[in-house]
Amino acid sequence: MPDEQTSDGPMRPGEKQPEEKQINGVPTVQELETLKDVMTNTSHENYRGVKVWFIRPDENATPMLAKYENDGKGKPTPENACAGDCCSKRGISRSANGDMVILPLSRVETKGIMGLEGTLYHELGHHEQYMKYKSLEFVGPFAKNKSNELAKEMGWVAGKEQPLFKDKTGGLWSHNEEDGTFRFDSGSLPKDGKRTLDQLQMRERALVKPITTYFDNAMEMHAEALSMYRMGERADIRGGRQYLATDSPKLYETIKKFDQASIDKKMGQDEQGHSKFVRGLDGRLVENTSTTRQLIEQREAAWRASGSIDPPLPARTHKRHK
Ligand SMILES: [Zn+2]
Repeated sequence: MPDEQTSDGPMRPGEKQPEEKQINGVPTVQELETLKDVMTNTSHENYRGVKVWFIRPDENATPMLAKYENDGKGKPTPENACAGDCCSKRGISRSANGDMVILPLSRVETKGIMGLEGTLYHELGHHEQYMKYKSLEFVGPFAKNKSNELAKEMGWVAGKEQPLFKDKTGGLWSHNEEDGTFRFDSGSLPKDGKRTLDQLQMRERALVKPITTYFDNAMEMHAEALSMYRMGERADIRGGRQYLATDSPKLYETIKKFDQASIDKKMGQDEQGHSKFVRGLDGRLVENTSTTRQLIEQREAAWRASGSIDPPLPARTHKRHK
């Protein structure tokens, strides 16, 4: 956050983001309140030294929502930059603990998975991934620690040249950055012989269904699902924890486990190894009592019973693309 923890002092309106020359603007009260809410719900993470930039709408037409960068040492290390469309490929950062750059496109709406709120959860999710795995690549030569395991749970494995995504019938697919499609790479060819799938088709055929159509790689698939989960239950049928539970039960379990591990790391467990805190249905961290657990389990059972909701969210993911 913009405080004394940053290596080069607080940000001011008009300050230029070092690499992209994007000009920092003034956040609205609603934007700051949303940031506060999102940070309260993710208070298990350490945000000391993170810089949040609210880029001025009149100065920047970048067709992306936001980006997160963290080189870990203040040195340019491209492999540590978020590799997705929402992020810059140049991992040059001068802040003490990462730059979160909120671009004008995500400042159009404040609340909801499609608005600033969803973007903040997504980008803070990248920060958390980085803090946990010390790399913003889940699969491949730069992946470290246990990120390969998490990627595998979501259906991603290392290929010869790039990560591959599993379908339900034993096929492996690679993401084509040029046109956003997935190309058949190896394994069993689908019965209809298709060798190219768009993201919607790939999503339907995926072994583990991504929650939005933005899943260029494991890291982005994870950040999208994490946002959906942490927003809690929402009235918007495709914008909250219930959507992840109904539309991708397998991914829901992976995300719930990841989230609980993050919460436990900060909040701890009791002597019997039970979590002291859990994520409540509204997204807040609450004490892990039997009443809370029961309430959550009842809702989860109801979500599972209601089944899949289609079609998926289109707009937010489209906006992410260049
Ligand atoms: Zn991202």
